[in-house]
Amino acid sequence: MELISRDDVIEAIKLYFTDIISNMPCDNKHNIIDTALAENYLEANKGLIGKIRELPTIEERKEGMWIFDEKGYFFCSECKVKPNSQYATTDYCPNCGAKMVGE
Ligand SMILES: [Zn+2]
Repeated sequence: MELISRDDVIEAIKLYFTDIISNMPCDNKHNIIDTALAENYLEANKGLIGKIRELPTIEERKEGMWIFDEKGYFFCSECKVKPNSQYATTDYCPNCGAKMVGE
């Protein structure tokens, strides 16, 4: 499972549009960019960001903890799966994505 941050996506879009606008060719006489075109990009930027903010969250990230059995092996409290590596716990369950918050 791969999760990405909504805020990071929005930031990437803002940077993308900023790049487009800053790389627009300038009018040599007035040394200005085509303001109408720039405004169109800014409006598109706002619209796209608004759509991303409206997207539903598929699932809130679960929180869990690593549980150690009597033999010293550990498993996820949420999905009960033992990770492939029994040598180190991780901040997130590699199987279900639960964020490990407890001891
Ligand atoms: Zn899990």
